[in-house]
Amino acid sequence: MAESVKAIYPAPRARVQAMREYHPPLGNRDTLRLDFNENTVACSPKVREALGSISAGSLTRYPERAPVEAIVAAHLGLAPAQVALTNGVDEAIHVLFEAFLEVGDELLLPVPTYTMYEIYASATDARAVAVQAADDLQFPFERLLAAISPRTKIIAIANPNSPSGSATTRAQLLEIATRAPHAVLLVDEAYFHFHGETVADLIGVVPNLIVARTFSKAYGLAGLRLGLLAGPVELMRWVKRVLSPYSVNSLALACLPPALEDAAYLDWYVGEVLAARAEFEAALDEAGVRRWPSRANFVLVEIGALHKEFTLLMSEAGVLVRDRSSDPGCDGRVRITIGTREQMRQAAVALNETLSTLELQAPQHAQKQRLENCR
Ligand code: PMP
Repeated sequence: MAESVKAIYPAPRARVQAMREYHPPLGNRDTLRLDFNENTVACSPKVREALGSISAGSLTRYPERAPVEAIVAAHLGLAPAQVALTNGVDEAIHVLFEAFLEVGDELLLPVPTYTMYEIYASATDARAVAVQAADDLQFPFERLLAAISPRTKIIAIANPNSPSGSATTRAQLLEIATRAPHAVLLVDEAYFHFHGETVADLIGVVPNLIVARTFSKAYGLAGLRLGLLAGPVELMRWVKRVLSPYSVNSLALACLPPALEDAAYLDWYVGEVLAARAEFEAALDEAGVRRWPSRANFVLVEIGALHKEFTLLMSEAGVLVRDRSSDPGCDGRVRITIGTREQMRQAAVALNETLSTLELQAPQHAQKQRLENCR
């Protein structure tokens, strides 16, 4: 464009202008990545094989999700019409909100929780109503019940939750669904495999229940972007109306059946993470670092005022961790993904070194933190 012409750009919707930007941390990615709750090893070799056997010719065709949706539905004991595959759970959240949130509606969510609920809600004409957890970061059950209003349209609960790692019981979820029959209860089971408890068996039984699952965590397929929503046909038909028929690409679709079939791989990875979590929690206790009990593949720890320095020093020591200080009620708290036992031993060494360095650099802060951890 000629320099003298001043370009005029059409403005996006006011809602979009007001949306918070989401900046996932990037750079220095060759280190031990304990900042995204990803699988820290690799996916199943059977998935790798399936990827290798994809022909160039097959890429000329638009992806066909229906046959794979049928496979995943059977795996969950559901009918295909009750399941929608999505481009990660992120797309699942997006389409669910698009399908159900109207002007004046409320999205109810306990906080701190997964950031994207609030971000996607802010693109709609609904209002997010946050219910703050207490300092123990346990699910704020009674307060959430009290916050249900006639305008509540979606209640989004990550179970287990991130960044706290805390869980909501089946009885609590059922009570919430019963007390808000006019709202969709979204139970996001992204970390289900590390927790082992689900409400997916209640799909179609509880009329307002929708469950989300992802292949980004235990299955190790975050790069392929594969998630799903499952719920009663009467709700899923609206989700499917909003969803692009091609948003899950053919590589992801080809990988899903072998990923589901390789139960041995999944068992191995989950077992490794649970063993590593127990060891790492013990290392945190020994180092005197306050932590929250976790039902997932990460643990939230209290670092205090030096959280930025801690995160930076850990990355210099070759371990990426996630500062969650900007999450509501999480100032000074850092989330550390759990990988294998070997990786977590490396992480524990980096943690102890980092804590010693901080103590040398700022002894008064470190001492104060130690006293607070003894509370
Ligand atoms: N739900 C929760 C609770 C998460 O923590 C995450 C990602 N960290 C997601 C959903 C997103 O999953 P996906 O990669 O399938 O979009």
